[in-house]
Amino acid sequence: MNRKIVAVDMDDTICHLLPKAIHYHNALYPDLPLTMEQIINFDLSRIWHHECSEEVFFGRPGLYEELEIFDEHTVEEMRRIHEQHDLIVVTAARPSSVPEKWRWLQQHLPFIPYENFFVAKRKYLLEFDVLIDDGPHNLLAAREAGKRTIGIPRPWNLPLQQDFLMKDSWEGMSDLVNKVLAEQPQR
Ligand SMILES: [Mg+2]
Repeated sequence: MNRKIVAVDMDDTICHLLPKAIHYHNALYPDLPLTMEQIINFDLSRIWHHECSEEVFFGRPGLYEELEIFDEHTVEEMRRIHEQHDLIVVTAARPSSVPEKWRWLQQHLPFIPYENFFVAKRKYLLEFDVLIDDGPHNLLAAREAGKRTIGIPRPWNLPLQQDFLMKDSWEGMSDLVNKVLAEQPQR
């Protein structure tokens, strides 16, 4: 078997975490409304309300289960990638959010078996051929390791957008994965 391993991130790659987290932040602290455009890196402690914390922002019970799917093409394109390759979902989940994230996957992408669900913050330790991710640190580390990447353009990865292959929609993602896999990795 020579199936290629396609690693796909969850948050803000196949679902929208930051918009929902911002929504709840702004409901709690209406005197300091945040916008997506303000999120230019992952250190949110500089911009969120002084009473906010990791636990408040990212630890709201049920948050990860109610996230919206990225777009109307995500499910079908994920299914195609899963059929053609060894699709693994890799998420840097907080331990308390792992059951929520697994339930979200079962609800939206039930064809993904649990052995393809990886909880890993240090994604660069994993073997894969291509990574689809929005996190600049993950894209950079994957390239450093000689892997192919497809980035999801978001305000926090703006500095990388000129230099990395980016795709803002899941429409045609499986075709792009096949095209990228047919090319030599970027160095
Ligand atoms: Mg992400």
